Amino acid sequence: MIKPIRKQSTFRKKVLETYDNCCSICEMNEIKLLRASHIWDVKNGGPDTIDNGIALCVNHEIAFDKGLVKILPDYSVKCLNNLGVTAEKIKLPKVEKNYPSPEYLKRKIELNNKSC
Ligand SMILES: [Zn+2]
Repeated sequence: MIKPIRKQSTFRKKVLETYDNCCSICEMNEIKLLRASHIWDVKNGGPDTIDNGIALCVNHEIAFDKGLVKILPDYSVKCLNNLGVTAEKIKLPKVEKNYPSPEYLKRKIELNNKSC
């Protein structure tokens, strides 16, 4: 049996490590419920790099993907409904070069606006 190679796994490991295995919005730290999300979707041309990744819990990953929670290029969090999000800013990685790229965050918002 040949196991399918999951390209996602290296990216996931790196991104979750970068964020101390915490959701960057609610700091939930149950690894089984954490996802390494691409900010700018790979299917839309986004790169597979740490600065295009963010660690989010399952809830916030879906909310971010659907544009219910927006992360602005200054890292502030904007929430459409009260989804239990109290953070004003995301929790950023320790190392600045791993910060999410403001350009990718902008692109994500633009793509969400288009699909609305
Ligand atoms: Zn969360």
